[in-house]
Amino acid sequence: MKQVILTGDRPTGKLHIGHFVGALRQRVDMQNSGEYDMFVMIADQQALTDNARDPQKIRNNLLEVAMDNLAVGIDPEKTTLFVQSAIPALYELTIHYQNLVNLGRLQRNPTIKTEIRERGFEKSVPVGFLTYPIAQAADITAFNANLVPVGEDQLPILEQDREIVRTFNSIYGEVLVEPEAVLATDEKARRLPGIRGIDDKMSKSLNNGIYLADDAETVRQKVMEMYTDPDHIRVTDPGKIDGNVVFYYLDVFAPNDPHVAEMKEQYRAGGLGDVTVKEYLIEVLEKLLAPIREKRAYYETRPDEVRAILRAGSEKANAVANTTLQKVRDAIGVNYFGS
Ligand code: ATP
Ligand code: MG
Repeated sequence: MKQVILTGDRPTGKLHIGHFVGALRQRVDMQNSGEYDMFVMIADQQALTDNARDPQKIRNNLLEVAMDNLAVGIDPEKTTLFVQSAIPALYELTIHYQNLVNLGRLQRNPTIKTEIRERGFEKSVPVGFLTYPIAQAADITAFNANLVPVGEDQLPILEQDREIVRTFNSIYGEVLVEPEAVLATDEKARRLPGIRGIDDKMSKSLNNGIYLADDAETVRQKVMEMYTDPDHIRVTDPGKIDGNVVFYYLDVFAPNDPHVAEMKEQYRAGGLGDVTVKEYLIEVLEKLLAPIREKRAYYETRPDEVRAILRAGSEKANAVANTTLQKVRDAIGVNYFGS
């Protein structure tokens, strides 16, 4: 049996270069290896848990996120690309799993805590948001996924999902597959910081990203605005590499590049200006982004083709999820009238 992968993105905005190195790049490699059955989910229902009052945003970004995936090389012939809300079985699985999790356990999840703070939900958190790790357990188990490629921020969520699987299986029998997280091999790529400083991760919700859809001029402007070392005022001043976002990006996007090693040395000693380093980063990013932008442009003029891909993917996904749901109902015993 092939190993099964479930992964995905929230349609809260276009995807950025943090998603690319933290998740998308590896997703495409795994797809092309031919060793896995891969499901890529556009998590619109999860996105609504913290955007319920702005559904238009989610609707608008559904195709954008689909196009980002197609642009980086997700191939609908090889991968099932589908929409979460089009899979009713996920809602029912979520309800069954809710009974297996305590409120306190959800509230202690470090990722949820951070995300509550980032979204200003401290005084009042939507129940659906607090419980999204439970819904995520439904997403993963519905497809019998044993591997879940994610960025570092998702590790505590995945740990909670694993607990749900273990609890379910211990009560109702070995029905669900326990998933494992797959992190990007490059440690620095697991949490790419935003352009305004090392502390925040690049995030659609924080508006600190360089997007796969950004044109060359926008990429240039964003790099030129990027945070470096605040004490590096004159070119002759010695500069710091640690905490310097421009060098962080160079490590991730131009790993083992001897020119970067030389620049670091010169920057530390003094005598290398931020603009020179930034110009090099722009060059590196352009090499990566130009072909992605071109492929994306193809789909931008063909939204019906993208919709058809999502519809076909969702049909396939429904068949798999319904089979799992039936097993779950049978295991709990809520199948009074037969299958
Ligand atoms: P939101 O702010 O709406 O949560 P997001 O930018 O965090 O959006 P998601 O759709 O939640 O994006 O994440 C998609 C995938 O990309 C997840 O696997 C996540 O862990 C990973 N990811 C998100 N941000 C980064 C980042 N800055 N660096 C590396 N990986 C990331
Ligand atoms: Mg996120």
